[in-house]
Amino acid sequence: MSTVRVSIAGSSGSIGTQTLDVIRAENALCAQGLSEIEYVVSGIGLGSNIDVLIAQAREFKPAVVAVADRSRHQEVRDALPGVTVVRDMAELVNGADVVVNAVVGFAGLPVTLETLRQGKRLALANKESLIAAGPVVQPLRSVPGAVIGPVDSEHCAVHQCLRSTVRPGVEVSRIVLTASGGPFRGRTLSDLAEVTVQQALAHPTWNMGPKITIDSSTLMNKGLEVIEAHELFGVSYDQIEVVVHPQSVIHSMVDFSDGCTMAQLSMPDMRLPIGYALAHPNRIGTPFGRIDWSTLKHLDFSAPDISTFRCLSLAYQAGRSGGTAPAFLSAANEIAVEAFLAGSLKWPDIAAVLEASLQKYAATNGTLSSDDIIEADRAGREEAHRVLSQ
Ligand code: MG
Repeated sequence: MSTVRVSIAGSSGSIGTQTLDVIRAENALCAQGLSEIEYVVSGIGLGSNIDVLIAQAREFKPAVVAVADRSRHQEVRDALPGVTVVRDMAELVNGADVVVNAVVGFAGLPVTLETLRQGKRLALANKESLIAAGPVVQPLRSVPGAVIGPVDSEHCAVHQCLRSTVRPGVEVSRIVLTASGGPFRGRTLSDLAEVTVQQALAHPTWNMGPKITIDSSTLMNKGLEVIEAHELFGVSYDQIEVVVHPQSVIHSMVDFSDGCTMAQLSMPDMRLPIGYALAHPNRIGTPFGRIDWSTLKHLDFSAPDISTFRCLSLAYQAGRSGGTAPAFLSAANEIAVEAFLAGSLKWPDIAAVLEASLQKYAATNGTLSSDDIIEADRAGREEAHRVLSQ
């Protein structure tokens, strides 16, 4: 029997709570003698939702909790005697074998960097940190023990498909990322002029947090995933294709040099990619849903409508520019999505804000540091705010 210590940065969100579901289920199997691996929660962290944190800590008994809002620390200490309370989420990396980074947005970068610096396994749900900071994150992947397990259904699927080759650099012809198409699939720009926040948040197949759900409605999520695939798997942008697949059963595919396509299929449930990242190279013993082949009648595919969903093209453009362009775009997108969620921006204007912001992007050349990435993030936010205020 072995023990895997898991820290979760962003434990109150959708990925954080589903990670705890997986751990609860796997430990129940272990208690029955049906699994060899026991998961111990070494640390959890979140922003300010301390009621959730305290309940989670009482159930899973981590040694350390991180609460970004320092004004709540005394309350947490009073509720959890003997537990170390820190402010910095990156401190959760100490004492963990695997770190689940489920922080939302660019704020997740320190956890990504610290996990890899310490040569630990990173279960990465915070795609923004890899997308924005690829040039800074990539060198850290060569630290012994530093491994990225993508907690994104598409990249988890690609990871599984790639296990069928020992020469990925030579034999992979194309990565095909599937997209559900989101709640507005099949609609035109004029249909979408007046859509509400609530309509955009009603994702047809996936239950996720608000930021990523809005990104799914604009296809920016898929665009960010194209950049994520480029960073994770080292394929060129010309080798990454997006196809709309409304059932969300095929989570992505890899085409090989001999014309073979490998696809990964499962019910849409994030607990599979989470469990895959926690247990790799093994698999967890708990199925969170299985495909019923007698009722699954269709697997449909179509090309994305890039004239309506312009964010996808903008992401390809930023990805191909490279350097700090993805950081700039991702930051501007966070601001545009916040404005839409706050009711101050119309849905079609999310892409318009990003397009106008990108026009002001000034490329940074040479070897990039964390400071360059942080500066590009700041510039992207500032530019989006400027466009919004016009
Ligand atoms: Mg995804």
